[in-house]
Amino acid sequence: MATSSPSKSAQPIDALIVGAGFAGMYMLHKLRGLGFNASAVEAGSGVGGTWYWNRYPGARVDIQSLEYSFGFDEELEKDWRWSERYAPQPELLQYAEHVAERFDLKRDIRFNTRVTAAHWDEAAQAWKVETDKGEAMRCRHLILATGCLSIPTDVTFPGLGTYKGDIYRTSRWPHEGVDFSGKRVGIIGTGSSAIQSIPVIAQQAEQLTVFQRTPNYSMPAHNGPIPEADFQAWAKDPRAYRAASRDTVGGFQNEPSEAMATATAPEEIRAELERRWAWGGFRILGAFADTAVDPEANRIVHEFVAGKIRQQVADPAVAEKLTPKDHPFGTKRPCVDTGYYATFNRPNVELVDLRAEPLSGFTAEGIRTSAKDYAFDAVVLATGFDAMTGAIDRIDLRGAGGRRIKDHWAEGPRTYLGLMVAGFPNLFTITGPGSPSVLTNMINSIEQHVEWIADCLVSLKQRQQTSIEASPEAEAAWCRHSTEAVTPTMLPQANSWYMGANVPGKPRMFMPYAGGLNTYTEICRQVVAKGYEGFIIRQGDRVLSESRAFTSQPAPGEIPENLLPIIMGRLMAAGLLPAE
Ligand code: NAP
Repeated sequence: MATSSPSKSAQPIDALIVGAGFAGMYMLHKLRGLGFNASAVEAGSGVGGTWYWNRYPGARVDIQSLEYSFGFDEELEKDWRWSERYAPQPELLQYAEHVAERFDLKRDIRFNTRVTAAHWDEAAQAWKVETDKGEAMRCRHLILATGCLSIPTDVTFPGLGTYKGDIYRTSRWPHEGVDFSGKRVGIIGTGSSAIQSIPVIAQQAEQLTVFQRTPNYSMPAHNGPIPEADFQAWAKDPRAYRAASRDTVGGFQNEPSEAMATATAPEEIRAELERRWAWGGFRILGAFADTAVDPEANRIVHEFVAGKIRQQVADPAVAEKLTPKDHPFGTKRPCVDTGYYATFNRPNVELVDLRAEPLSGFTAEGIRTSAKDYAFDAVVLATGFDAMTGAIDRIDLRGAGGRRIKDHWAEGPRTYLGLMVAGFPNLFTITGPGSPSVLTNMINSIEQHVEWIADCLVSLKQRQQTSIEASPEAEAAWCRHSTEAVTPTMLPQANSWYMGANVPGKPRMFMPYAGGLNTYTEICRQVVAKGYEGFIIRQGDRVLSESRAFTSQPAPGEIPENLLPIIMGRLMAAGLLPAE
């Protein structure tokens, strides 16, 4: 860490925000409005985060735009009209630019700058921050708005360097776009990024070869103009609509049903799933209350989706390859597509099953599998992200006593409420690990976090308190509660990025909080109402308030009788309930 800088003797600013995606932008706006001296640092050359980086063809949001947009400003909300149910990336980026301009955010954002180190200075009660531009800054509060899916995995392939064609990553797409006309293109991966881009690339390229290791579940978006009735339902009271979205498990309206698939007649199941499939997107996830927990209920939905894949794909052998088999429905993030399955009916599209013919590496001409060599003019890597912790891990982040975050998280990311980390005073994470984040509509989660953090900073300021940090006890209790929330479900059964399973050597731990945004918001509210329960608050080295316990857990809801044995069994097997 540099010891000299022009700003070394200057007073630390109140808050430095890392990242100028939707989280960083709103945090900056909120804090400035409250009179704090805040600024942001952003690695990209513009605002927008995810929507700045992920410019691949076909990129669009998978939560309806009426809900995936800021609700903190009524005028902003009224002035902006989305063109489609699921806005495409260019429109989302335009929206981010519009927000930045409207609230004059850019004057306080340093672009093209990456934070490389941040060390807590106990004596100064401030963070010392360094960037890749050699700048040193000091701030009282460091707020990481670094995104959950912002750092691509370091995936590499033998011989990649010898390949003579073009290589593109979906998450680092050239700003000028790519013309695949007349080209032979290969794409590795079949996650959301690939599933959105494949149909668009297939229309342009001469030949597209899709290298699939694991098939995913994908539902049709049925994208198009926002139906007038939907728009009116929103427009008659956007506040109420927003509140209803926030008061859900996923932060978006999904018509959650309490019906059990295992207790419903087959023809009723079919009708309900058909209705939701026709509506599109994630609506099918809310069809039955037992699909996330009961393997039999899950199998029913799986069979329905497998049937839909068979209906859309003309060649039964290809349909079979595209049908997920290694993970229950909904345990990896499902995809929302526009014409994905039907793309495999095109004569210029080929599916290669890497389970049958494993990928050996690259040659000068293209890709080699155990079965044959494929020649390409361009290869697209849609190989995913070092999710949730990747961007935080890459900062040399050291808390009290010089403790490194990497060491603190050696067995998986431990946080209190996904907002703070024990031993790292005045460090906040927006939609960090341990919060509902990626299991929800990110914008609603971001707004809830930004508002909680802003309230916290106001409270500290009013009481002239200099630092706040999570107690180790509360952090441990939150981790246990998070484990209790996810264990009854089948979510931990998949090798998903939620579990850190896509990055070799990453500790396996279910990283987001699975208890639902509505429950989580209420817990956060209670924590504050109890005087920042679970936090240690100081003035210099004097402890002013110390509450080590975390008791704000929700009372367990009533568990449907047929799910009780499964849930109890899983909790017991995980050691979370005493075995009888
Ligand atoms: P992903 O879901 O992690 O998919 C990565 C794909 O690459 C997987 O199919 C993976 O196969 C494959 N892969 C990775 N390494 C490989 C290797 N060495 N050899 C062969 N295949 C390999 O990543 P993503 O598609 O970028 O999506 C990540 C998340 O971002 C999504 O789940 C979603 O939350 C978000 N996202 C959202 C949107 C949206 O809102 N519209 C769009 C895109 C992404 P395996 O499964 O076998 O590992």
